[in-house]
This record gives sequence, C-alpha cells and structure tokens, in this order.
Amino acid sequence: SAYMASEKGAAVAATPSDSPTIFDKIINKEIPATIVYEDDKVLAFRDIAPQAPTHILLIPKVKDGLTGLSKAEERHSVILGHLLYTAKLVAKQEGLEDGFRIVINDGPSACQSVYHIHVHLLGGRQMNWPPG
Ligand code: 5GP
Repeated sequence: SAYMASEKGAAVAATPSDSPTIFDKIINKEIPATIVYEDDKVLAFRDIAPQAPTHILLIPKVKDGLTGLSKAEERHSVILGHLLYTAKLVAKQEGLEDGFRIVINDGPSACQSVYHIHVHLLGGRQMNWPPG
C-alpha cells in the first residue's frame, strides 16, 4: 500500500522484535550494500534511501539483543562507544569537516523501522533543528 511504501508507514507497522532483519543479510553479504567501513565488530554502509548527500548506517555485526538503544544493557557499553567512535572516523573519511548529524531512532514514535540497532550518520548539507 502507499502507506507501507512511506518510511513512516513502514516504521509504524514494524513490530519491535529480536528476529533477524535485513541487516543480517547485509552482514552476511546475502544482499548487496555499499560498504564504506568495516572492522571485526561494526559495519558501515550507505542508506538505500539517503536523506542527505552522505547518509550512512553503522551497525554492530553481532546484535546481542540490541534491537534498539532502549534495550541496551551495561554489557553493550563498549559496542555503543565503538559505534560512535566509528561514526567519527567515517565522518572524517567522508570529508564532513563542516559538521554532521548522528541519529538513533528508537521505537515506533521515533519511526524506527529496522530492529537491529543502527546509528545514522548524515551530512553534506545544512541540517535543520528541530528534526521532524
Ligand atoms: P530507521 O528508520 O529504523 O531508523 O532506519 C532504517 C534505515 O535503514 C532507513 O533509513 C532505510 O532507508 C534503511 N534501509 C532499509 N532497508 C535497507 C537495505 O536493504 N539496504 C540499505 N542500505 N538500507 C536500508
């Protein structure tokens, strides 16, 4: 439907769960993605529906129950820090010297649509505040 075709429609319809997501297929190279950075813990790839000239998603390769930030436990502190530090490295790699934005959508009210935690890195244009 047109509603499901919209980002908000997909997010509102998405059921929070710990089931495998499309990101597992990207991690396992079962579907293609434009990977811009990778190490043993994290993967960074271009968003399929970019909202800015640079729009990259950073995800942990092992979800470990981290469907979203609201599910974080103390043990996730290291990977959460590593995701943010990696976002800084990728921002530099992308040449975002004038600034960038980091977003983590959590849950239906924030339009989270994929239940495998991910950090959005957005840049390359003037951002607005407040966000939508
Ligand atoms: P959320 O709305 O959950 O914060 O962000 C999910 C993001 O994943 C969206 O920006 C959406 O465009 C992106 N996305 C969904 N499916 C795919 C895919 O198959 N490949 C890529 N590269 N991005 C995807």
